[in-house]
Amino acid sequence: MPIDPHYETVIGLEVHSQLRTKSKIFCGCSTTYGAEANTQICPVCAGFPGVLPVMNREMVNMAIKTGLAINGQIKKFSVFSRKNYFYPDSPTGYQISQYDLPIIEHGELFIDLPEAPRKRIGVTRIHMEVDAGKSLHEGIAGASWVDLNRVGTPLLEIVSEPDMRSSEEAGAYLKKLRAIVRFLDVCDGNMEQGSFRCDANVSVRRYGAEKFGTRTELKNLNSIRNVMRAIDFEVDRQIDIIENGGEVVQETRLWDANKNLSRSMRSKEDAHDYRYFPEPDLPPLTIDQEQIDTLQASLPELPDAMAARFQKEFELSEYDAGVLTASKEMANYFETANGVVAAAKQANTKAVANWVTGELLGRLNKEGMEIENSPVPAENLGKLVALIQTGEISGKIAKQVFSHMFDEGGDPEKIVADKGLKQVTDSSAIEAEVEKVLAANPEQVEQFRGGKTKVLGFLVGQVMQATRGKANPAMVNKLLKEKLG
Ligand code: ADP
Ligand code: MG
Ligand code: ZN
Repeated sequence: MPIDPHYETVIGLEVHSQLRTKSKIFCGCSTTYGAEANTQICPVCAGFPGVLPVMNREMVNMAIKTGLAINGQIKKFSVFSRKNYFYPDSPTGYQISQYDLPIIEHGELFIDLPEAPRKRIGVTRIHMEVDAGKSLHEGIAGASWVDLNRVGTPLLEIVSEPDMRSSEEAGAYLKKLRAIVRFLDVCDGNMEQGSFRCDANVSVRRYGAEKFGTRTELKNLNSIRNVMRAIDFEVDRQIDIIENGGEVVQETRLWDANKNLSRSMRSKEDAHDYRYFPEPDLPPLTIDQEQIDTLQASLPELPDAMAARFQKEFELSEYDAGVLTASKEMANYFETANGVVAAAKQANTKAVANWVTGELLGRLNKEGMEIENSPVPAENLGKLVALIQTGEISGKIAKQVFSHMFDEGGDPEKIVADKGLKQVTDSSAIEAEVEKVLAANPEQVEQFRGGKTKVLGFLVGQVMQATRGKANPAMVNKLLKEKLG
């Protein structure tokens, strides 16, 4: 959302995606997350003098697959470069990366937001590089620890064009990119553990201005929500500066999620001179067409293709189809639940989609959980929807049953039976309740007969309350009208 309608937001994202290779990029050390500190290092990744890197082929394949999935140009000749800088968690004193000749260029991906046409976002480049270790500043006062386990694990840096115009678009881009790397199984996409990290470049300009404004770079964004919040904060901050006659300074800013604000980390004046030069220990990387073709043929169904299939097969909206194909787990969940409903000969795909994207995802988000850890398995959600479809329970009761399943588990059919929640469709039973309600509310009955038909809603509500929500609402309506008429 533009915070000030006179300004346009411009965003470009740099994503570091940690590849799921078994071993590091230039040595045989394991890449497993969470091992005891400094147990996954060897002379190569620890940067001892005289050691030589050996290229991990699996990584190159993963980079090519990612490039193909975003419709990028795969460069048959690319070069590794040394990026020189000193940092305590980088024992070599340089990072092996790709600079002027990256492996992938000119890709694209597409985002869908509700109520908006599909939008193309350009991907400038993807290059391969090594990750650094981690500095830990907690534990003893006045000292820092360093854990080198992550040194030398493979990263893809995926750089977008400055094509995004709102925090919502940035969020949608990240979701789509994360879905792609997950579908490809090249990255687990876990932002909290840092295997999918994003830096956001943000600037603003007056609508109609030709040139982009000065940008700042936001770091320390460990969830999509934080990326979006940090962008909104930054847009506000920049507009404020300009409106007060100031100038935005190009700088790197750190997001503080607890305080909901960012602060300056370093300005352009302290920018490093990396003295890039071609990595002398590695030959240029060459790829032949056969390798590209083989990898192309091995690509799985990707999120956009799956979403298109869902739209067609299940008659879903573009937006719903996008949400339901955000990950393979999500798609599997939906297809399984839908299968249960269809098997009960009650097929209603729209209802299943609504339950997954509405009630279930709403609750999972609230609890900070992912669909793969959903306390309600897909089979049970499917059974619940089938119970609504067969008229055994009302939608309102279903929400109650859902809460119960989410908090305490259990099979919906059993919960409905144990708690006596089955919808009352026996007309004589409902009729008895209707009679009671009419007898107890003579004033409203009078009003209705006098033409104030709006009180019907009140009377329906009374009957529903008397039956603890179990009466079939359509039947209640019909019986009340009959008796009042
Ligand atoms: P650097 O290597 O210094 O970070 P790049 O030219 O590679 O610089 O740009 C990094 C990111 O910044 C890219 O994603 C690009 O789209 C984005 N970007 C460049 N200029 C702007 C701008 N004026 N406003 C917002 N984003 C920008
Ligand atoms: Mg940058
Ligand atoms: Zn190693």
